[in-house]
Amino acid sequence: MLTDNCTCRGCGAHSTDMFFQADCVPTSVGRLETSAAEAHSARCGELNLVACHACGLIQNHSYDPEIVGFEPGYQVSLFHSPTFRSFVQGVCDRLIKRYDLQDKKILEIGCGAAEVLRLLCQQGGNHGVGIDPAVPMEVKERFDAGSVHLISDFYSKKYEHHVGDFVCCLSVFEAISSPVHFLRSLRQSIGERDIPVYFEVFNGYRAIAESEVWSVHYEQCNYFSLDSLRNTFALAGFEVTHSGTCYEGDQYLYVEARPSESGEQTLKLNIPAEFSETVRRFGNEFQTRVDWWQGKLDQCRRDQKRVVSWGSGGKGISFLSSLSNADVVQQVVDTNPARQNHYIPRCGQPIVDPLDLKQTKPDVVILTNALYQQEISACLAEMQIECEIVVA
Ligand SMILES: [Zn+2]
Repeated sequence: MLTDNCTCRGCGAHSTDMFFQADCVPTSVGRLETSAAEAHSARCGELNLVACHACGLIQNHSYDPEIVGFEPGYQVSLFHSPTFRSFVQGVCDRLIKRYDLQDKKILEIGCGAAEVLRLLCQQGGNHGVGIDPAVPMEVKERFDAGSVHLISDFYSKKYEHHVGDFVCCLSVFEAISSPVHFLRSLRQSIGERDIPVYFEVFNGYRAIAESEVWSVHYEQCNYFSLDSLRNTFALAGFEVTHSGTCYEGDQYLYVEARPSESGEQTLKLNIPAEFSETVRRFGNEFQTRVDWWQGKLDQCRRDQKRVVSWGSGGKGISFLSSLSNADVVQQVVDTNPARQNHYIPRCGQPIVDPLDLKQTKPDVVILTNALYQQEISACLAEMQIECEIVVA
């Protein structure tokens, strides 16, 4: 326990412990620089992870959304991955069926490039409004017409007239620093109407409990467990109708909810007995992994091996920026064309297309997200690249 007595922004309790600190982490995994020099001077911030023993919510209490840079150019879409596209298709099919989303008005909060909203509108004949400060300009020009309307802004009360028949919010609620306050505002906008909502977030507690150390990054402000997520909705006056884990087993959490007739409530929570020990173990494991990888990269340097890593998202950036000898890694591969020809914040590695590895001929490829191991191994085999593949 490093310090305590922070107020939990979920339940408001004072029973919190700070269990992990990092002083200088890049403040944005979604905004990338176009030169190595700019990348080296990318903005950094602090991580102060605080665990609430009353509701189980874990938060970065140093998080300031103002410095992340949620604006056009910020993008963390995973839609270039066939695995992810297939998952989202399944979610949309399920929501259209369960909520009879045909010729309805749908609001997506934090729509990004509006891939989900467009699917819901195309397949259900629905009308959608997507609100996100980071809607890419080219997406706005191409799709802001007909059944989809895109607004480049943060969602707030001033857009409450867009709350229609269904509200969804995917992979965004993690970055909202006052989650209960945000949901209460949405609940007020819904008023007396019976409007279902669907929220999906990264399963942050699983990542911490499994010491998935590179999953911790700056704008990942909330690390929900299913219990703390459900409780957040109950505290804001919603009744959770369905909830669970999804995406490759349990990578994400989802909640489907409707306005509650009984108003705001606190759920009876099941905080695991080993909660304190679990969060404390994370810090020790983090240091163990950093030490191991610094040893591995030192050895690669001595052996003059060509090393690349694969994945420029949150995990890839956390991995590189945690290591003092990350310069051994020459390039970072990403299949997302929008991230190629940019540079990793702080460390400055160029982000390249997988095909560039034919020239690089790496001896070692580090996978920073084990989920895509099969896709990546197949890609390397197809290019006839023989190398050591190591999961970070
Ligand atoms: Zn709490």
